[in-house]
Amino acid sequence: MRVLVTGGAGYIGSVVAEVLVAEGHGVVVYDNLAKGHRDAVPPGAEFVHADLGDATALRQTLERQRVEAVVHMAADSLVGESVTEPAKYYANNVGNGLALLDAMRAAGVARLVFSSTVAVHGEPTKLPIEEDDPTAPVNPYGETKLAFERALRWYGEAYGLHSVSLRYFNAAGATELCGERHDPETHLVPIVLDVAAGDRDEVTVFGDDYPTRDGTCIRDYIHVRDLARAHVLAIAACDAGAAVYNLGVGGEGTTVLEVLDAARAVTGHPIPARVGPRRPGDPARLVASSARIERALGWRPEIPDIRTIVESAWRFRARRAAARDARRAPG
Ligand code: UDP
Repeated sequence: MRVLVTGGAGYIGSVVAEVLVAEGHGVVVYDNLAKGHRDAVPPGAEFVHADLGDATALRQTLERQRVEAVVHMAADSLVGESVTEPAKYYANNVGNGLALLDAMRAAGVARLVFSSTVAVHGEPTKLPIEEDDPTAPVNPYGETKLAFERALRWYGEAYGLHSVSLRYFNAAGATELCGERHDPETHLVPIVLDVAAGDRDEVTVFGDDYPTRDGTCIRDYIHVRDLARAHVLAIAACDAGAAVYNLGVGGEGTTVLEVLDAARAVTGHPIPARVGPRRPGDPARLVASSARIERALGWRPEIPDIRTIVESAWRFRARRAAARDARRAPG
């Protein structure tokens, strides 16, 4: 199938593109490079440098590239920023998302996989979080993702759009080609590895007085390749209507201190940490149930343990550092 990946030069999008290429699909990455990296686009994928807000470029790309399905990853995704800059989140996550749907209608493309978030549920009422649990986002990030999910339902009923929304939390880890490279970096795993690599002095643990087994927040870290596999499976599963699936690794989730311990074991570095105040808006425990997608599509995480996840991110980092050094070496 010919698949357009919006945001395909970003962290998760580039791995989706990589898995699609590996499985023999025709891949077009559409990215404005606001946060993505040109060199993250995998060999074998075509690249279109354009903005989702550019209706002409989008429609031309869909038509000229004979796109049959879209994986929509392009979005703003920082909770804190969404609270201080909601306009940016509504414009990009809702406005540009709707522009994409309109361009798809005009070009006759009827399949969409949407990268959503478990943050659409807000503070969980029970764990693990399931698809039919109440949706009550507590920040504009979750709110705008939910708004787009809801649009998908109505566009499905009125215009025959077939969609699957995938909700998940903490993508982590790397493949041989692609990994996490945000600037500035706010995510726990790359920050911890920055310390191990000597690029930062210490990690600040945001609060150790949560009601969890060691007092630090519990999250559901999913290997980015497992996430990408779910997106690729979902393309084939796009059926009439708008399906929603949660992705999680199962079990009890992982605390911040457990991530630190995994990184110490992987890197052999002591990774000094200091406890700071809680980060506003951080729920104590977030874990999602992926029972529905396992039943429906047979998806299960292949790399569920945090140590292997961190190890893959560490190897990616080492490969990038080696490539940088080789470029700098004289001669
Ligand atoms: N965290 C931390 N120190 C950091 C960055 C993150 O203690 O420097 C914690 C954060 O409070 C959360 C977990 O690590 O409990 C994962 O945070 P991240 O920003 O990676 O992802 P999020 O859960 O916000 O999507």
